[in-house]
Amino acid sequence: MLDLAIIGGGPAGLTAGLYATRGGLKNVTMYEKGMPGGQITLSSEIENYPGQSEVVSGIDLMASWPAQCMRFGLKHEMAEVSKVSKNENGIFILDVNGEKVEAKSVIVCTGSNPRRSGVKGEEEFFGKGISTCATCDGFFYKNKEVVVLGGGDTALEEAHYLAKTCSKVYLVHRRDTFRASPVMVEKVKKTENIELVLNSAIKEIYGDKMGVNGVIALDKDGNERDIKVPGVFVFVGMIANNKLLKKDDGSFLCDMNEQGQALVDLKMKTSTPGLFVAGDLRVDAARQVVCAAGDGATAALSAMAYLESVE
Ligand code: FAD
Ligand code: NAP
Repeated sequence: MLDLAIIGGGPAGLTAGLYATRGGLKNVTMYEKGMPGGQITLSSEIENYPGQSEVVSGIDLMASWPAQCMRFGLKHEMAEVSKVSKNENGIFILDVNGEKVEAKSVIVCTGSNPRRSGVKGEEEFFGKGISTCATCDGFFYKNKEVVVLGGGDTALEEAHYLAKTCSKVYLVHRRDTFRASPVMVEKVKKTENIELVLNSAIKEIYGDKMGVNGVIALDKDGNERDIKVPGVFVFVGMIANNKLLKKDDGSFLCDMNEQGQALVDLKMKTSTPGLFVAGDLRVDAARQVVCAAGDGATAALSAMAYLESVE
């Protein structure tokens, strides 16, 4: 039986693993369904991680984190945890690739995933000209024009990044003010090859069997504009990865808010003893790498205190 299971290998999970193992816990496994690093590895430019004075890509930022944790004995399994439950003896049961794993305590750090916009044509052309990752797919549009959809930090940062490779970026946003930080908005406004298409929705993304050919933008006065581009990047927010905490009756293993984020206290404790949630999956998360890492450290310390109290 594991002392601690950590689910998710982003900044929160990796930091929880570091603190738990370096703090002396011997039997700790981190389950990560993909490569460790988390959603920040989708980002091309990070300039707000403390101590990094140069702009760095998400992949580079996270490259050294797994090795640091493994050095202190964290075990990593590349596997998806589909469900977490708790039995009558207070032991957690994890469903891992069809097998049951027992753990005395659990930290869930499964973060969030890019949301789909629901625009007509999005499902049809996803992966054939529509992407949610500029770092991964931006290069395919070198010297070509692209559309970016959204008005948050992600959309503006990635539009700015794409403007370096692409000949032009149309930033389509449904309002004329942005959710993104003022500093990012200024940067985008100063970038000559970014055109702001504001107060506009995308009515349709169209194309043929080769992929995307363009989008029809519709402004609030009902005017349509045909923007012919081979690539569309959708950055319209994130969805909490909470499915694994759902019980058979549809309720959750711990208390959640309406957005499906776990309610935790300042020690990352949920309403279920021994279950902790850290990072973007928790309520009121600042959605920053540094904050997710801080949450992970706090959750690990709390899990250690919990184990001490029950043993
Ligand atoms: P995540 O990073 O989402 O990691 C969760 C991990 O859990 C993933 O690796 C996932 O594969 C894994 N997982 C999910 N479900 C399961 C399961 N059932 N079983 C096993 N594994 C599972 N923050 C900044 O501070 N600065 C920035 O410049 C910045 N730029 C960003 C740019 C983009 C494009 C995006 C999308 C985000 C950006 N952020 C930035 C936010 C930052 O990435 C997040 O706040 C941070 O990654 C959250 O960390 P986390 O560990 O909570 O979750
Ligand atoms: P976000 O802040 O939720 O912004 C989503 C954007 O998409 C909003 O502008 C929203 O419009 C728009 N939108 C939502 N649904 C839409 C739809 N169906 N069609 C068209 N537009 C739609 O999401 P995010 O930009 O991914 O950021 C997520 C979190 O990560 C935020 O907390 C952010 O601060 C953080 N983050 C931080 C950094 C950084 O620190 N440098 C970088 C990236 C992300 P409205 O504005 O009209 O609602």
